[in-house]
Amino acid sequence: MESNKKSSEFNFLEAAKVKRTELFRECTNIVVGAGDLNADIMFVGEAPGKNEDLSGVPFCGAAGKNLDRLLDNVGLKREEIYIANILKCRPPANRDPLPEEIVAHTPWLLKQIREIRPRVVCSLGNYATKFFLAGGKVEDMGKMPGITQVHGKVRDIEIGGTRFRLIPLFHPAAIIYNRTKLTPLWEEDMEVVKREVSGEEC
Ligand code: URA
Repeated sequence: MESNKKSSEFNFLEAAKVKRTELFRECTNIVVGAGDLNADIMFVGEAPGKNEDLSGVPFCGAAGKNLDRLLDNVGLKREEIYIANILKCRPPANRDPLPEEIVAHTPWLLKQIREIRPRVVCSLGNYATKFFLAGGKVEDMGKMPGITQVHGKVRDIEIGGTRFRLIPLFHPAAIIYNRTKLTPLWEEDMEVVKREVSGEEC
């Protein structure tokens, strides 16, 4: 498959910011996101891994297979949600995202949230969760609580005039390593997500 890096679809300001980063020069594909552009639920992970970089599709490796299984357990399909990441390009050797990379890549993610207008954004793992809890201020991410403290807790978030309900979830890759303990917590948290989406009071 030909790389999407030169696609004429990506001629806008937010994409230009991504294209100026070293990550863009080194990656095979930009991993934009996938799923229903009218979804009520949007999932946001950390960054593409090797499989995602090669295919251009988010969550298509081991973490993605686990995500599909976890969604299936709660009666949801990938086609019903939208999935994207904090970073649009794979960091070399899957290292952690750097603050300046998050600053450069998240305007595109925020544009997607503005356009899709999901009722609920589920942040997967620490990076996405801290980004949203910090109101998009990357310099404040370090002060935010970790996923173990905040998973399943609903918050109202407003970033640059866009409002949504945030529900942090454990990252599907973390669940692979701690299935017995984290799967039931993920399923409980997904009940909260479903309630929020259906507009039911707790
Ligand atoms: N992990 C992520 O956070 N995102 C992906 O797309 C794949 C693995």
